[in-house]
Amino acid sequence: ESRAEDGHAHDYVNDAADASDHARFEEGQLCENCVFWGEGVENGWGRCTHPDFDDVLVRAEGWCSVYAPAS
Ligand code: SF4
Repeated sequence: ESRAEDGHAHDYVNDAADASDHARFEEGQLCENCVFWGEGVENGWGRCTHPDFDDVLVRAEGWCSVYAPAS
């Protein structure tokens, strides 16, 4: 399965540090602690359940602008 590239959707980046100047980014936000983070993590890559990331894996240490904290 293909891995997301920077800019895939919603200003996605594979390294959350690259989002540090994004208006919506807050320190500590990572795909792996996002409510959309899914199952099946392998080698730091996993599924994102947001429909705009249906076709790719995202990186645990990535980020995008529809991030929402997992409760
Ligand atoms: Fe990562 Fe969450 Fe964006 Fe999916 S919705 S790419 S898990 S920050």
